[in-house]
Amino acid sequence: MVRRSNVRRGGLASGRTTGVGFALAVHDERADDPMSVAYELARCAVCGSADGPELAGAADVRAEVEALWAFHGRRLRADTPPAQLMDRVAFSQHAPLRLVQCADCGLVYRNPVERPRELASAYEDESPTSERMQALHDTQRASYAAQAARLTRTFGRRGSGIEVGSYVGAFLAAARDAGWRFAGVDVNACANAFTRSLGFAVHDGPIESLEAGQRADVVAIWNCLDQLADPTSVVRAARSHLAPGGMLAIRVPNGACYATMRPLLRTRLAPLAREWLAQNNLLGFPYRFGFTPASLARLVTRHGFEVEHVEGDVLVPIADRWTRPWARLEERAVKGVLGRVARRSHTVAPWFEMYARVRG
Ligand SMILES: [Zn+2]
Repeated sequence: MVRRSNVRRGGLASGRTTGVGFALAVHDERADDPMSVAYELARCAVCGSADGPELAGAADVRAEVEALWAFHGRRLRADTPPAQLMDRVAFSQHAPLRLVQCADCGLVYRNPVERPRELASAYEDESPTSERMQALHDTQRASYAAQAARLTRTFGRRGSGIEVGSYVGAFLAAARDAGWRFAGVDVNACANAFTRSLGFAVHDGPIESLEAGQRADVVAIWNCLDQLADPTSVVRAARSHLAPGGMLAIRVPNGACYATMRPLLRTRLAPLAREWLAQNNLLGFPYRFGFTPASLARLVTRHGFEVEHVEGDVLVPIADRWTRPWARLEERAVKGVLGRVARRSHTVAPWFEMYARVRG
């Protein structure tokens, strides 16, 4: 899986820009060209309900994407290469045409939505250079070391695991350092070849195509379930590969946070809501699904899991050498505060993790 819409890619790439003017030109070309994408009407992927009032219309989304460019334009150095804008403002997922929230379970989703074929090609065809993959791998290691430590704490011991969307193998490596035996699953053959060169077993394809007999103690899906065409099928497949007592571990952007902050963008609290969303890659909503803790719990419970632990979090740090010094300090300060709030409130936490155990 290639995830531009979260920090796995670490904001690393190559190219040049001089700021927002350039950025808006790119925006017009790739984020807002609905004619190049085929759409279909959608229902809620968790509960099947068709009752989904609009959360953000086309003009709202466009304004959010423009605010996101302005946000990063102010914070990045003038000599920042344009490809460094990846993960900040340009994503594998097109900006949504329109976002709704399921009246029944709370899932935030795109309606209409891009056809699954459009989605698959966005991920499978990506072929970054080995140098870039190594750089991504290196930048992601630290946050994945923390992720592996949380997993060990929550699962209660170490064991075997399958990571769905293993990409450049940063989590696989961090987990190995922490004493786990993880294998990867990813649709991106190019990334998989790189990850294999690090000594890991990786399956080419979606988890639904994994050999039926393969079992593990943990299936981990970090920053990925929100971008897949059919999350229900992925959760079902994960269940079938778990050993008795096994655990499904998921990290996703929080649809509840977006749904809470989105209406505030039309009020006097707009600057606060914008900062909250922008600092956590939620402005412009570059995801296919915005699971809420409640809607994700509903999905995993239906597939034979019992939710054991939910933890609110913020996006891992994205400041790098292209970030202006004041913006680096700002990010640290804002995420320090948000992190404390996120751990107490599952409603406004920008991201959350869910750990669910196989029932029975
Ligand atoms: Zn629903």
